[in-house]
Amino acid sequence: MRDNFFAGKKDLLARRVSFTCSNPECRPEPIGPQADPTDVVNIGVAAHRSAASPGGSRYEPDLSSEQRADSSNGIWLCRRCTKLIDSDPIRFSRGVLEGWRRAAEQSAAVALIQSRDAGKDFQPGHAKNERLISALLEEMWEDLRNNPTTRKFVVLKRTWAYNSHGPYLAYYLDEHEDLEGKLQVLANLGHVHDITYKNVRRFLFQENFVDYLTGT
Ligand SMILES: [Zn+2]
Repeated sequence: MRDNFFAGKKDLLARRVSFTCSNPECRPEPIGPQADPTDVVNIGVAAHRSAASPGGSRYEPDLSSEQRADSSNGIWLCRRCTKLIDSDPIRFSRGVLEGWRRAAEQSAAVALIQSRDAGKDFQPGHAKNERLISALLEEMWEDLRNNPTTRKFVVLKRTWAYNSHGPYLAYYLDEHEDLEGKLQVLANLGHVHDITYKNVRRFLFQENFVDYLTGT
């Protein structure tokens, strides 16, 4: 029996990486115009990181059918790379593929932010800003995975004391250059909601952004 991906999950995997192969060594254009202008050639594949059936590459017997069919077990690749990873499952381990997926989704997220905010702080191709906002998204991704039901976060300096009722996450002005500017972009995009109160910069993660970052 094969645990094929649930309906809609393939498309989700593709969209999360802008239909681009997730192999960092590859990154061709897996989607492009066809001779017929009403259609597109899509040579991308939603590949299983852990095989859909016993005997397949990186098959893990401990996973449930549900886990195998979930998008969290998928990675978007071109056909050539799908063959490549299945021909050498030791080199292309689950951990390696996990890293590819993460990096590909982050660069798609950065591209998304850059394309919507062509302002002074996030000019396309500005490697430094790309790296800096990517570090913030990376930290948020990590925090939300470790704290899946926490939505509130505050902006602090390392030396500030902050007391709060209930759980919260924190991002530090000392660690992220122009943190306020980046949060403003995320707020403009509707990814975070500003709930600043009594001089404390507080925000709520919005569900679509949480889904986007965590892949659920
Ligand atoms: Zn590829």
